Amino acid sequence: MEGLASKVLLVSKHHKERIIAPLLNKIGIQLEVIQNFDTDQFGTFAGEIPRSEGPKVTVREKCLRGLAHSGQRIGIASEGSFGAHPIIPFVQANEEWLYYIDLDRQIEIYAKSLSTEITHDFISSKEKEQLGVFLSKNGFPRQGLVFKDLTQNKIIQKGIQDEKALYKLVSQYSNWQIETDLRAHLNPVRQQNIALATQDLIKRLSSLCPKCAYPDFSIKEYSGALDCEWCGHPTSSYRYQIYACNQCQHSIEVMRNDKKLEDPQYCQYCNP
Ligand SMILES: [Zn+2]
Ligand SMILES: [Zn+2]
Repeated sequence: MEGLASKVLLVSKHHKERIIAPLLNKIGIQLEVIQNFDTDQFGTFAGEIPRSEGPKVTVREKCLRGLAHSGQRIGIASEGSFGAHPIIPFVQANEEWLYYIDLDRQIEIYAKSLSTEITHDFISSKEKEQLGVFLSKNGFPRQGLVFKDLTQNKIIQKGIQDEKALYKLVSQYSNWQIETDLRAHLNPVRQQNIALATQDLIKRLSSLCPKCAYPDFSIKEYSGALDCEWCGHPTSSYRYQIYACNQCQHSIEVMRNDKKLEDPQYCQYCNP
C-alpha cells in the first residue's frame, strides 16, 4: 500500500498485540509494543479507576500520550467498553475501538466492532449452588475471573484461571461475588471482537481516496429514502451511502446494494 508506514507503535497492554499484530502484518505493518507505559491510568474494568470519558475519546488520548511518551510518530491504541447496546433496547454489547494516527501525514482513523456476544457475567454467594453452571457457561478457565469480597466491598483477586485457587477463595469468604474478567487476555469472546475491529481498521487503511489517495475513504453519511414496496411512499430508510475523504472532502454517493425497496413494516403509511 502506497505511503503506509511499516513500523507502528501499539499503545496497549494485556497482550492485545497477539490478536492485532498478525492481522496487520498481512498488510505490511509491524507493530512494536510500547514499554514502561501504564495504560491503566485511563480506567480499568474492575472499577478501581473510573473511566472519565467514552471509549472513543479515551482511545485517542491514550494513543497520543503513548506517542509522546515514546517519541514516536505513528501509533495504534485499542479500547473496549461494555454496556447498553446503542440501538437495541435491553441488550448488552461490547464495543471495541482501534485508533490509528500518523502525526506527520495527519492521518487519523477510528475503527470499531460492536458485538452483542459478550462475556460479562457475575454470580454471588447467594447462588453458590449455581457456581458450576456459571463456570462452564462462561468458558472457565480460558475466561478469567475476578473475586470480590462484598462485606469489605473489595477486590481480593483478579485474573483467576485456576479452579483450586477459586474454590479456596470461595471457602474463605462468606459474602462474595465472582465476575468475568473483562481484560482482553482473559476474555476470549472479547479477543474475537478485537480481531473484528482490526479487520475494520485494515479495510479503512486499504480504502484510498480516488482523488488524493488518503486512507479511510469510507461511508460517512447516508442520504435519500427507500420507497415502500407496497405503497411506494418514501420511508425513513436511507437509499444512498456517501463515501467521503477526511482529507480533501471528495465524496461519492453509492446506491445501497442490499435492497432497492423497503419492507412495509418500516412504512409509516402501511404500518403506522
Ligand atoms: Zn481525498
Ligand atoms: Zn407503505
